[in-house]
Amino acid sequence: MKYKRILLKLSGEALMGQQQYGIDAIRLMQYAEEIKRAAATGTQVAVVIGGGNIFRGVQAEAFGLDRVQGDYMGMLATVINSMALQSALEKLDVNTRLLSGVTIQRVCEPYIRRRALRHLEKGRVVIFGAGIGSPYFTTDSAASLRAIEIEADVVLKGTRVDGIYTADPEKDPSAVRYPTITFDEVMEKNLNVMDMTAFTLCKENNLPIIVFDMNKAGNLQRLIDGETVGTLVTMKVTEPQPLNTKQSSLQPSLDTPTEQA
Ligand code: UDP
Repeated sequence: MKYKRILLKLSGEALMGQQQYGIDAIRLMQYAEEIKRAAATGTQVAVVIGGGNIFRGVQAEAFGLDRVQGDYMGMLATVINSMALQSALEKLDVNTRLLSGVTIQRVCEPYIRRRALRHLEKGRVVIFGAGIGSPYFTTDSAASLRAIEIEADVVLKGTRVDGIYTADPEKDPSAVRYPTITFDEVMEKNLNVMDMTAFTLCKENNLPIIVFDMNKAGNLQRLIDGETVGTLVTMKVTEPQPLNTKQSSLQPSLDTPTEQA
């Protein structure tokens, strides 16, 4: 096992599967299976899940509603997704704890760093709900912040594409994937990895990010086993880059990539 402790970031949108809104039950169970396999390796697993499949604060602004109110709605949406994931994991007999950045006493524990660490040490999968609990942030920022707080070895950003490309592979067929890239290069080339707050937190705390295809069965475990999967963002690049072919895989993707990381 390469990592002692990981933070897995999943977008809410990924939970929609082929749907336009909400949670796709099959996709949810697939993610739970992947997380179960990862946790079974002995790696401590923390998860942050977004809420974009239900609500984002910017949507409230578009409706002419208050942005801050909208952001809290978004945070509650992440709690709904977190509860769904917790339930799916429990169905697979995985011990989990849901810790929320916004106190919702009857549903989950409040986020307390020491408590999160204790759960992880006991081998429980810890899900962080409600982002960081403050408006004007994203769950990517929550993923970076919580990963730093719990001293995770890496942020694994599970997406629908298999890494970071020179351009959007959906629009530009000549786009090539970077196996590794530095934080500085991502910024110079203006590549879309995470929002700037989230990205800067990782950069300033020397916390590597791996962007990978979460919809490819077994990818999460391969990463934990130390295989090269997706794109590693780090301070220093040690391998040649970029690759001129898309990453091959032994297993088919669960759906067609439609977004850039
Ligand atoms: N949000 C917030 N503070 C946080 C995390 C999330 O205000 O710390 C709100 C924000 O409105 C955001 C929404 O919750 O748009 C859902 O999160 P996000 O957009 O990150 O979800 P994802 O894109 O990963 O599905």
